[in-house]
Amino acid sequence: MNQVALQQYLDFAYIVAVVLFILSLRFLSSPVTARWGVLAGEIGAGLAVIATLFNPEVTHYKWILIPLIIGAGVGVPLGMVQMTAVPQRTALSHAFGALSAALIGIAEYYVGTRSVTRFEMGEISLEVIIGSLTFTGSLIAAGKLQEILPQRPIVYRGQNIVSLAVLAGALGLAVALVVNPGQPLLFPIMVVVALIFGVLLVTPIGGADMPTVISLLNSYAGISAALLGFVLNSKVLVVAGALDGSSGFILSVIMCKAMNRSFTNVLFGAFGQVKASAAAGVETRTAKSASAEDAAGILAAASTVVIVPGYGMAVAQAQHKVRELYDVLTKKGVDVRFAIHPVAGRMPGHMNVLLAEADIPYDRLAEMDDINGDFAQTDVALIIGANDVTNPAARTDESSPIYGMPILDVDKAHTVMVIKRSMSPGFAGIDNPLYFMDQTLMLFGDAKAFVGNIVRELSGAGGH
Ligand code: NAP
Repeated sequence: MNQVALQQYLDFAYIVAVVLFILSLRFLSSPVTARWGVLAGEIGAGLAVIATLFNPEVTHYKWILIPLIIGAGVGVPLGMVQMTAVPQRTALSHAFGALSAALIGIAEYYVGTRSVTRFEMGEISLEVIIGSLTFTGSLIAAGKLQEILPQRPIVYRGQNIVSLAVLAGALGLAVALVVNPGQPLLFPIMVVVALIFGVLLVTPIGGADMPTVISLLNSYAGISAALLGFVLNSKVLVVAGALDGSSGFILSVIMCKAMNRSFTNVLFGAFGQVKASAAAGVETRTAKSASAEDAAGILAAASTVVIVPGYGMAVAQAQHKVRELYDVLTKKGVDVRFAIHPVAGRMPGHMNVLLAEADIPYDRLAEMDDINGDFAQTDVALIIGANDVTNPAARTDESSPIYGMPILDVDKAHTVMVIKRSMSPGFAGIDNPLYFMDQTLMLFGDAKAFVGNIVRELSGAGGH
């Protein structure tokens, strides 16, 4: 095959890959088509890699094959982690993606020093800065989520000024390199400063802001890949990076909105520090607890039940038991729906994925805004391992760190039942006054075991 024809085939393969990436994002926006989205993305990425291997510029394969084997050796086990570990696994993926973008940029600088123009120097510098800070930032985020590092924000006086000064330092070095690309000493210093900034960027962030930070780092990794596409003159990389960067950014905005927080607040607000809460008086009140038998009786007598899943359901892997509960109640003629808060769990769509895995019909899942008006007519709100997303202090207590965050209005239901193991707080680290309300019953225990017990009671209890 002649070179021109080969290039045409390769361009065509890249166009198909890009179309598949766009379709992938489209499909991923609904749980009904999400599996297709994953498949489209995988095929697109596979096609782009294979096409690149056929590129005439690739002259020998040894240095591609060895890393491919090492990468697959690391990637395959990483893909098999438990559902609850997916946020930190995602952070690691961003770290690796950003590292590879940074390393390729660094290699481009050293290989191309002779001919590098000012414009190219600008591209390389920006790409390497964003890649490097995303690498260390994502590693810190993964460490925090895996609880290897303290989850709370680590803060000190003048922190924001120090961090911004370091960032300004990296950008200043980039400008100096653009002005004079032939200064080899400045380049490695710029890389080190950017790596340090990544650490400074994420250490002061913690608590409930971590998933948003992961999404933001995803966006940074995409931007650095897109810039790398310009450096390497690879259109497919520009488009894939831009899609990754913009979708990650949009997701971060959605998450910020769902938590009623601004970007600057997430980045500089140090959310999750131990703060004296005005709800301190709450502890003097006592919460009522009930058994699985009591809970089964109340559920069997209800006409409408709304189940609110949260992070605890994910940790306990209780979704299949929840499906059994849904089946047994539906058989008894109870109308059962699921209320999904946009940030329930530890990543967007966490609850949708788990409930879909247990084959709970999608049309039984309702978004927060669609179901909130119905709680006042709901007999039982059954909360399974959710806490912050049901905390009424977000509506009423101006001193609460989650004040203003939209929540599921479960406190308006006639009876509220909460399955969790103890009275300890959720991700945001604050008390939940819901547990002390008159209509609330605490069902203490592991979500999977407790729901299993309720199902057993209901199955033995006979008809409605
Ligand atoms: P949460 O507030 O962290 O509460 C989860 C509850 O589950 C805990 O109170 C815990 O109480 C309970 N639990 C843990 N293991 C359990 C088990 N084995 N069995 C039963 N219960 C168990 O979770 P959430 O209500 O889902 O709220 C999500 C949090 O993540 C929010 O703070 C939100 O802002 C944050 N967030 C999420 C996203 C996202 O994209 N999803 C993004 C940004 C922030 P016990 O220890 O007493 O059992």
